Amino acid sequence: MPKFVYDFTEGNKDLKDLLGGKGANLAEMTNLGLPVPPGFTITAEACRHYLEHGTLPDGLAEEVNAHLDALEKAMGKKLGRPDDPLLVSVRSGAKFSMPGMMETVLNVGLNDESVHGLAAQAGDERFAWDSYRRLIQMFGKTVLDVDGDLFEDAIEDVKRARGTEDDADLTADDFKELVERFKTIVREQAGREFPTDPREQMDLATEAVFESWNADRAILYRRQERIPVDLGTAVNICSMVFGNMGMDSGTGVAFTRDPASGQQGIYGDYLQNAQGEDVVAGIRNTVPLKDLERIDKASYDRLLEIMETLENHYRDMCDIEFTIERGKLWMLQTRVGKRTAAAAFRIACQLHDQGLIDVDEAARRVTGDQLAQLMFPRFASKVEGVRKLTKGMNASPGAAVGKVVFTSERAVELADQGEDVILVRRETNPDDLSGMVAAKGVLTSRGGKTSHAAVVARGMGKTCVCGAEELDVDVKAGTFTAPGGVTVNEGDVISIDGSSGDVYLGEVPVEDSPVVRYFEGELSAEDGGELVAAVNRVMEHADARAAMAVRANADNAGDAARARRFGAKGIGLCRTEHMFLGDRRQLVEELILADGGEERQAALDALEPLQKQDFEGIFEAMDGLPVTIRLIDPPLHEFLPDLTELSVRVALAGDGADPKDRRLLEAVTRLHEQNPMLGLRGVRLGLVIPGLFGMQVRAIAEAAAARKAAGGDPRPEIMIPLVGAVQELEAVRDEARGILDEVRESTGVDVPALVGTMIELPRAALTAGQIAEAAEFFSFGTNDLTQTTWGFSRDDVEAAFFSRYLELGIFGVSPFETLDREGVGRLVRIAAEEGRKARPGIKLGICGEHGGDPDSVHFCHEVGLDYVSCSPFRVPVARLEAGRAAI
Ligand code: ADP
Ligand code: MG
Ligand code: MG
Repeated sequence: MPKFVYDFTEGNKDLKDLLGGKGANLAEMTNLGLPVPPGFTITAEACRHYLEHGTLPDGLAEEVNAHLDALEKAMGKKLGRPDDPLLVSVRSGAKFSMPGMMETVLNVGLNDESVHGLAAQAGDERFAWDSYRRLIQMFGKTVLDVDGDLFEDAIEDVKRARGTEDDADLTADDFKELVERFKTIVREQAGREFPTDPREQMDLATEAVFESWNADRAILYRRQERIPVDLGTAVNICSMVFGNMGMDSGTGVAFTRDPASGQQGIYGDYLQNAQGEDVVAGIRNTVPLKDLERIDKASYDRLLEIMETLENHYRDMCDIEFTIERGKLWMLQTRVGKRTAAAAFRIACQLHDQGLIDVDEAARRVTGDQLAQLMFPRFASKVEGVRKLTKGMNASPGAAVGKVVFTSERAVELADQGEDVILVRRETNPDDLSGMVAAKGVLTSRGGKTSHAAVVARGMGKTCVCGAEELDVDVKAGTFTAPGGVTVNEGDVISIDGSSGDVYLGEVPVEDSPVVRYFEGELSAEDGGELVAAVNRVMEHADARAAMAVRANADNAGDAARARRFGAKGIGLCRTEHMFLGDRRQLVEELILADGGEERQAALDALEPLQKQDFEGIFEAMDGLPVTIRLIDPPLHEFLPDLTELSVRVALAGDGADPKDRRLLEAVTRLHEQNPMLGLRGVRLGLVIPGLFGMQVRAIAEAAAARKAAGGDPRPEIMIPLVGAVQELEAVRDEARGILDEVRESTGVDVPALVGTMIELPRAALTAGQIAEAAEFFSFGTNDLTQTTWGFSRDDVEAAFFSRYLELGIFGVSPFETLDREGVGRLVRIAAEEGRKARPGIKLGICGEHGGDPDSVHFCHEVGLDYVSCSPFRVPVARLEAGRAAI
């Protein structure tokens, strides 16, 4: 039988799968000799059993008994004993931190008798009754599903009767009254008495924590953060220490470095005479951690010492929860802290400079997603014509502009209509998650950098300004007011700057980030400040380590040039279809309507020089680097007028209809397809419309010859789309080779060109060995390959049912976003392997959207592709991930 319970002295930080992050780190701190209140952890495995079977695993109760006995012996107390009770907290803690998503119950073990024992032991009646009412409140909400507002309303009621607005003015008698009222609320709402048996409290709380794994907000959060659905949570039973025992007690949170900027210093919040939940909830106003030095110097010094110990031990920035009970400091939690993208780069390089980590590790500590965030535009530095409303705390960077909304529901509603919204709240709580996801940014009037809004927004990479205390937010009225009597209503546009904390009325223009200006070459690594220097250091190392090159998907000289500045080593996909749009549409129409060879040739002859021009520009921008040009792929009717519109036009005109329109209608009708994605497109077009591919190949060859004659170094790679059988490829390849030879002779310039194919149909992947005989390179078109492997039409299914599939856990993330390793990935592996066998050294790349997706880039590295290709703006991200994959 597996072991389900671990004492804090038995675990360590590497046991996160089993003990969850909180439990593993509590154990680690215990073993480091830091002051952690004793306790034990029930494993996530027990939770998984409970969620699957609805019952606790056999043997768990006995193990818990044994560990509780040991805990009671160590503490010299007994759980809930009337005269001197041991009290515990029952705390959730999964492998990945999910701040505020799951449940915790404090003060377990209190009842009508033990509350007296606690009062006597503490010499403080008020404290004991405050603790007791907190237990009923948390237990009621968490375990018995009672609406939390009912408890809050009761507190407000009692405060009103006492004529105060401050919890601190409430007396022992007030809390006694609240205990009675709370019990009544529980009785009425839950249909049962509040359980007074301490062990029953503990067991019910444990099961409730297990169940909180499947709370709606937890499910939503996991989807956002891509946390697997089946991990379950561990439960930590931790003996209580009290921050609410008077002014020499308190509770706080701290970071070993600034999680927003990465700066070293003292960051955190402290609250005197309070229990843990009060800080994070932003319910009462905290003081900056620095003030603790004045309040309790000894604890402050000890805390700084411990923070240094933890940073050196974890070799990373940590965040910490602590409580001071009558001048004694206790550590209640630590973990490697969440941070902004900028902080991640800075901290990684600082730790490298300090010699705590090597440069490989520094690169491992940052991600492509973080780099992508740093490339977002920011507000222009000179802001004119908009009114600055106030300044809050810069909780999570970025520049967000949108319409003000005050509720999650409204945020979701407007976002669904395509509006940008800013969610404005006094403070957020876990129920606001869906609104935070939907919003461009979050603004709160209360709470510090560790408030719920700040922590969650940072995790999501969402712009957030918190604690803008000058704002008076009235959610019910749908307004907030700012200094100077400005009133802002729902629907008004505001701009919030998560990097500075500034809040503006109106729309502020945005500008490029310094990181982008560095990639553009406008800002040197030396002059760009600490962040740019850090990005530069990591990128240089990633490039040195990467086994794969990064190319770009670009269709014009401008994009190609930018991609090159961003570090692209060529073009992996130049789509030629845009070259058929705009004014040239007319020529395509003529091509399709051609009444025989001559007319067709005339249309092709007119298109060719235009194509040639386009290619010359791209070859010039990518001089000396490979340029993969895909011959026309989409079905031709995409270039013709809409069938319905045209039918109506012809019908309305009756006998007077333009004969050309009639012919066009005939052609559109003829070409109309039920399923264009699987219709006449790609190589099939080349084989059916004589001269079409030939014209494109000639344009490529002549453009290359012209560039070379002008002293350039063009490197064309001609790519045939949608091949399913080697015979298709052979036919087109032979035609292409013929034309390349012709152009060589006619121009007298020899430009070597590769001819290869896309692998984007399962049949192509499965017969890759044959296809490689005729292809000099493969490029995996994983968009189409995903569509055809799953049988999903990307344009139709994503909106229709993907959200349901994600809910059901059929996949954790859309296979169009992150390459499906097991299915599509297997085809890629097969094709790569067989392709290499048939043609050793065959060049392999990928050109689907996946080429810019971090996880997919790692997959491509594992398969040993030569390059990934992605949009120009994603090139730095792919470079970083290609490097990280190789470390
Ligand atoms: P979360 O994961 O939401 O932070 P925690 O389990 O850490 O939940 O607990 C919520 C709050 O209660 C935290 O502030 C924590 O420090 C505090 N807390 C938890 N256990 C204890 C305890 N044994 N004694 C005192 N405070 C505690
Ligand atoms: Mg915590
Ligand atoms: Mg395709």
